[in-house]
Amino acid sequence: MLLSVVIPCYNEEENIRPFYDKTVATLKDLVADTEFIFIDDGSRDGTAAALRQLCAEATHTVRAIRFSRNFGKEAGILAGLEASHGDYVAIIDADLQQNPKYILDMLDIIKHTPDCDGVAAYQAQRNESKLLSFFKSCFYKLINKITQVEFRRSASDFRVLSRKMVDAVLAMPEKCRFSKGIFSWVGFHVEYMPYEVEARHAGTTKWSFWKLTAYAIDGIVSFSDKPLIISSVLGILLFLLSILLMLVVVIKTLLFGDPVAGFPTLASLILLLSGIQLFCLGIVGEYLAKTYAEAKGRPVYIIKDTFESNKEEAAE
Ligand code: UDP
Ligand code: MG
Repeated sequence: MLLSVVIPCYNEEENIRPFYDKTVATLKDLVADTEFIFIDDGSRDGTAAALRQLCAEATHTVRAIRFSRNFGKEAGILAGLEASHGDYVAIIDADLQQNPKYILDMLDIIKHTPDCDGVAAYQAQRNESKLLSFFKSCFYKLINKITQVEFRRSASDFRVLSRKMVDAVLAMPEKCRFSKGIFSWVGFHVEYMPYEVEARHAGTTKWSFWKLTAYAIDGIVSFSDKPLIISSVLGILLFLLSILLMLVVVIKTLLFGDPVAGFPTLASLILLLSGIQLFCLGIVGEYLAKTYAEAKGRPVYIIKDTFESNKEEAAE
């Protein structure tokens, strides 16, 4: 098997067939040596039925893995990589925002660049609001400063990986999976290729601002322990400051008597310090929650059904 195409799907019933048809038409001769692995991430619409129908009608190798509930795109990617057999594995969205023709370009790059084990596509131009773009650029600046691995802005999960790189990604046992970080952490030579994102074929995006924020925090906590160090340093600085303040108060009282301390000053100091304490406690809590999740060792996803195309039967 030359190529495995991994497609995480969540509520994409109207996109499954158009995606398959377009990809088959684009891959041309390659398609005979390609397997399609669709992961139905607990969709609530007719995605499972659409996949069942596709498996019944497909003339090429199609496998569908159906989760017992929505486990998230990261879990879908993991299940797809685990089920893949190809020498190369492409990860692509089901909504046709990512034109399958770029898979051919990425395959070309990975095959013809010496020593290359991965190609990641990044959006040359982003169609998003200025505010969101600003937040994203802050996130990338921050995460690149405080982690050892490199996070490339706009590099998506739209990638082609060599078998070697897929095996390295699968060898990472962690349950809380932040793919962008994992792809970077495993190393290897990765090329970046610009691509033009298209409009969604049908349905709506599953990302809200808050989901993105939670995702960003997840990324930082998964790949850096610097926030813990920052909170300790903040604690030490405040301790030193409080000693200084105490000395000032004692000296002032001894030399000039005891003027009535201002209540507003006291109130703002209490608010400031309790705010900082809660903030630091929150940081510690994030790491504790991650450790808790890892310690429980629950599976990343649970499979309800799998079905696949019967090529011989369909070809008749
Ligand atoms: N997706 C998924 N599980 C989820 C959310 C999304 O498998 O919980 C899939 C979705 O079906 C699509 C891909 O991940 O194929 C990208 O999602 P979406 O198009 O909503 O993201 P965007 O393109 O807006 O970043
Ligand atoms: Mg999309």
